[in-house]
Amino acid sequence: MRSAQVVLDIPTQALDAPYTYEVPPQLAEQVRIGCAVQVPFGGRKAVGFVMGLEDEARSDRALKPIEQVLSKPYFNEMGARCAVFLAERYVAPLSACIRLFTPPGGVPRMVRDRFGGWKLTQPTIGEVDDRWVVAGPELNRYQVRKNAAKQRAVMEAVRQGDVRMAELTLEYGAVSGAVAALAKKDVVRVEHRRRMRGDGSTPAARVQHAYQRPASLTACQAEALDAIEAAQYRADGSVVVVDGVTGSGKTEVYLRAIEAELARGRTAIVLVPEISLTPQTVARFRSRFGDTVAVMHSRMSMGERYDQWDLIREGQARVVVGARSALFTPLENVGLVVIDEEHETTYKQESAPRYVSRDVAAWMMRQTGGTLVLGSATPSIEALYGARTRPDWSFVSMPTRANGSPLPKVDVIDMAAEFASGSRSMFSGRLRRALTEELEAGHKAVLLLNQRGFASFLLCRDCGFVPECVNCSTSLTFHERGNKLVCHHCGYTVAAPATCPECDSPYLKRFGAGTQRVEAELRALLDAELGVEAEIPVVRMDADTTAAKGAHQRLLESFAAAPRAVLLGTQMIAKGLDFDDVTLVGVINADTQLHLPDYRAPERTFDLIEQVAGRAGRGALPGRVFVQTYEADSIAIRAAAAYDREAFLRPELEKRRILGYPPFVRMANILAWGKDEGAVRAEAERLYKQMRDHLASQGPTWKVLAATPCVIARVRGNFRWHIVVKGEPHLDIAAALRDVFVGRKVNASVNVALDIDPVDLL
Ligand code: ADP
Ligand code: ZN
Ligand code: ZN
Repeated sequence: MRSAQVVLDIPTQALDAPYTYEVPPQLAEQVRIGCAVQVPFGGRKAVGFVMGLEDEARSDRALKPIEQVLSKPYFNEMGARCAVFLAERYVAPLSACIRLFTPPGGVPRMVRDRFGGWKLTQPTIGEVDDRWVVAGPELNRYQVRKNAAKQRAVMEAVRQGDVRMAELTLEYGAVSGAVAALAKKDVVRVEHRRRMRGDGSTPAARVQHAYQRPASLTACQAEALDAIEAAQYRADGSVVVVDGVTGSGKTEVYLRAIEAELARGRTAIVLVPEISLTPQTVARFRSRFGDTVAVMHSRMSMGERYDQWDLIREGQARVVVGARSALFTPLENVGLVVIDEEHETTYKQESAPRYVSRDVAAWMMRQTGGTLVLGSATPSIEALYGARTRPDWSFVSMPTRANGSPLPKVDVIDMAAEFASGSRSMFSGRLRRALTEELEAGHKAVLLLNQRGFASFLLCRDCGFVPECVNCSTSLTFHERGNKLVCHHCGYTVAAPATCPECDSPYLKRFGAGTQRVEAELRALLDAELGVEAEIPVVRMDADTTAAKGAHQRLLESFAAAPRAVLLGTQMIAKGLDFDDVTLVGVINADTQLHLPDYRAPERTFDLIEQVAGRAGRGALPGRVFVQTYEADSIAIRAAAAYDREAFLRPELEKRRILGYPPFVRMANILAWGKDEGAVRAEAERLYKQMRDHLASQGPTWKVLAATPCVIARVRGNFRWHIVVKGEPHLDIAAALRDVFVGRKVNASVNVALDIDPVDLL
């Protein structure tokens, strides 16, 4: 007898284990790993996914049979193992992990019907057909009646070749009666042919952004490619970190590595941050690999995504370019995964399963003997540390731009000194002058307003002092209520001082400014310096102006089209922009992020400056960069301005080692949230005690920090608390926490989530 392991599509950890069902002989052909099936379960019917198949020697077991096969396979054996890996590593319900592999638009579901029973529903997204009208055997013999004008028109059209029903309707009005009459007499036939929805990119965009293969590689590119090809040749699941400055030509290296992989008969996945998945990016891959490239991103319609997914499943795609979910498309035989802009936090999924793309891709490549390439101008500390300490990781750097243009000089401007000299403007004298000069010369400028640090910490405008926790060396968060400062790691609380403890200045104030306010001040500045009649366009890009579909692309195009202009925006402008005529980059406030009570804040600040500086002077014109800060002595800012990663990394790694942060520990963040503050707090404290006692029984290697309110203490009316757990990196933190987390009593008014390897603790 043949049996199948089936995981029910019911996302609760309680039903996580696969159930064994009989594969009835009449379904033996159809039941395959990865199929959705209908099975009986506890007196009802349920949908499940086949995770494994076995020939049972014992036939005495009374197994219930699979009733129906509901889909073609969504994933193969490798996908099934990956889902199990995800469920274990991130302590997530197995069915939620399997869902990553299912097609866009959903899977068959069992829903309650009107009579209290269960009814199967199929997803509404799927293949779309066009009806085509084609010639039948009688087409040239049939004598059409004189007054049947529509029939005559249809026959005339079909004689010219196959034609879509929709086109006939457009031309002649309703023709279905006429076509049906003709079909009955074998004059024409109606055929259903699948229509493929594209990836949202127009043929014009493809031509416009076509990417030429450069005649030769630069020395840096050749070296990087050698390192990757060596790994590809070893085929042992190794990781290559490519540290290439902005404009060093990493894309061409990826393209060549993919060519090499395809030549060995394997396939490749390229992950790109959602925001960088522009028509330009896609065109670069299409120019080289044509229609074997499938694309997946969230700006495509569900139908478009379904078709791309299905192309992959049918084996027609050899390269998939997409956001993090592209890792789970049904691409067979993957030998290479490239993660571009590897340091980006969007590679972490923020809902269950809360996976880290880098770690999942590394696991996949170990399984298949493939290669993982991590590319960035600012590799994450995890990647850099991995490259230094792990035998199967290698590192290659690309320190110069492909077109030979130098990296722009970065000047740090001490805003505390500006303030001391009497200026109350957001724009320093030097930035203001540079802006005027560049615009007068007919060039463009990019201004970044760092918005990640919201106005929740105190900053001395005279000396730049920010109150920090005595235990954790992260900045304290200001709470209006009670006028106090709180540490969100350890709970340390003090009254907010009225004057600066360092210099006694009374200007110890909340810090922060919105893009709209900066825009208004910028407008006034431009009008004063260059005259109102100059009408310098200011393109503002932030969460508000980019909310509409296509707005992001439109704003960038309007900036590109203007002869001279200023682009003012938040973090979203820091990467990927490639405009030859941008000669000036200004960072209005480099340090807000630095004061986020988050251990990654200095790293993010360093990355941001390096990335945004890379937007200047990419073409023939030299660029310059001004970084305004109240923390002119900060190592992250100084080192970024000097392009000196080592100067930043050495003390930063030392700090993380001493304070116990990744990569020296693995962390888990247990989040509790709900509408009732008291209940959330009680639940968080109860969980803390449980975690502490449970881990204490496992030895002294674990550290559980007491429950505290999150830095972002309220989101949409929900109060948030958290507990941080740390352990040595070689320990299995998921296994250690699993029992407590899965076994906890469910509290109806408090939600709890376990985040393994969190990207931040906010
Ligand atoms: P990165 O992704 O590393 O920031 P890109 O891949 O965008 O850099 O390349 C930067 C620019 O250099 C692009 O305009 C690209 O066309 C050009 N380029 C890449 N490789 C070469 C080469 N071998 N010779 C000349 N130009 C190149
Ligand atoms: Zn001060
Ligand atoms: Zn603290």
